[in-house]
Amino acid sequence: MLTGQHFIAGKWVKSEDTFSSNPASGPSHSFYLARAADVETAVKAAEAAFELYGYSSRQDRAVFLNAIADEIEARGDSITEIGVQETGLPEARLQGERGRTVAQMRLFASHILSGEYLDHRFDGALADREPLPRPELHMVQRPIGPVAVFGASNFPLAFSTAGGDTAAALAAGCTVVVKGHPAHPGTGEVVAQAIDAAIQKCNMPAGVFSFIQGDGFAAGQALVQHPLIKAVGFTGSLAGGRALFDLCAARPEPIPFFGELGSVNPMFVMPEALKNRAEELGQGWASSLTMGVGQFCTNPGIAVMLDNADSKAMITAASAALSEVSAQTMLTDGIASAYRSGVAAIENADVTSVLRTADTEDRTARPNLFVVSGQAWLDNPTLHQEVFGPLGLVVLADSIEQMVELARHLEGQLTCTLHLDQGDYEVCQKLMPVLERKAGRVLANGFPTGVEVSDTMVHGGPYPASTNFGATSVGTLSIRRFLRPVCYQNIPIELLPRECSELSV
Ligand code: NAP
Repeated sequence: MLTGQHFIAGKWVKSEDTFSSNPASGPSHSFYLARAADVETAVKAAEAAFELYGYSSRQDRAVFLNAIADEIEARGDSITEIGVQETGLPEARLQGERGRTVAQMRLFASHILSGEYLDHRFDGALADREPLPRPELHMVQRPIGPVAVFGASNFPLAFSTAGGDTAAALAAGCTVVVKGHPAHPGTGEVVAQAIDAAIQKCNMPAGVFSFIQGDGFAAGQALVQHPLIKAVGFTGSLAGGRALFDLCAARPEPIPFFGELGSVNPMFVMPEALKNRAEELGQGWASSLTMGVGQFCTNPGIAVMLDNADSKAMITAASAALSEVSAQTMLTDGIASAYRSGVAAIENADVTSVLRTADTEDRTARPNLFVVSGQAWLDNPTLHQEVFGPLGLVVLADSIEQMVELARHLEGQLTCTLHLDQGDYEVCQKLMPVLERKAGRVLANGFPTGVEVSDTMVHGGPYPASTNFGATSVGTLSIRRFLRPVCYQNIPIELLPRECSELSV
């Protein structure tokens, strides 16, 4: 069933060199490694297709997005089978993620049909206005052109080949070239087969979507530097994202790079909540921290609280729950080894180990829990960094004022969480103005690992959570990344984009 080929401009094609997948279980497969020529063909086809697709009706694009969802569902079992082998994630997780991916496609289909995202504005002509007449003006959001998307290692479906970036770009009217993540090339290929079937069913132009594979940086670098690419969607490491962001900025024509990078997702546990439910909070944190072996962008890696008997109770409960979690398989050998290095870096800072599990030598990981004083955390930036995996760090503040000070020293975050009861409101009023400047999403009395795909979701935040703090990579608002406002002055109705005449003035 797997061919190892790229899908470029409507055809399945081979290159010269290959790389082998490194699945967590099951057989390894061989995949072609994209060359510069493959990137060139895919991007040129995306540009040619944009001339048609960029002017397609919202109704046609909605049918296309729904067809992609149908074709993914039709391949559900094979996607789960290869996904489990390649990533080591449990079957139920892969099924849930497939459901989210399909729902995302359908959400964007209905979102564009409503037309609201176009933000159409109209200023009628004022011929008699003094001292000068006003021309007729329309403003509408237009698709920006071919978009490059990088598959993410930690979401083989929802943030990869047909994930949120691809869905938002296709919904906007942009064509897409995906660089698959080498951690799950077979999963990527089956999803690309589903998109191929939808392209044929809906008679879409061949270059509307291409999918190339590779396990070196060359193809990705050529892609973001190609002059016809107009924006990039990325989820991954701070180092990788920053390197690609810099390449985009250094182009003769700089383009937006929408990178979703690192976040420690701090939780602030308020005194009364801590007093009322220390044990429950400790257990809840442990299960959020170990979900998906801690390989979520929204993993709550840091818990800030006052240093008292209640915090000791929460730490004891978290440690007891974490110590029962057995070794679990991580997504790649590289991610498992980065986790071990991250744990070592934290351990070598001025911290106390509460739970230090033995390092594994394979692709598995076990949880670790450390405690540090507020002052030591403020003094040591190593402790502010994300460790991708099930590592928890408790920061013990000596006062409410220090809690606020800790919040002020946070880097940009995807999420900040407050655990609070009614008696905590006064303290929270001091924290809220600080936290809302730090994160894309501020939440109370929950854990940030669940991300709703909806109209209100913001999955982004100030750098390094993302490279563009005005954007989100989840939810319908994410379509804005791939749109550009254009003003049409005195343009005859016959020449205006169809949206201007379709929507009421
Ligand atoms: P990654 O190393 O950033 O790689 C992601 C993608 O970017 C891959 O396709 C990779 O290409 C490409 N890439 C990276 N550096 C590049 C460069 N300098 N030039 C061109 N392309 C480049 O992320 P990863 O493989 O998913 O995982 C590694 C680490 O990323 C993890 O340990 C974790 O710390 C972090 N991570 C964070 C999040 C998050 O949401 N915060 C999510 C996933 C991963 P190739 O693989 O083809 O070489």
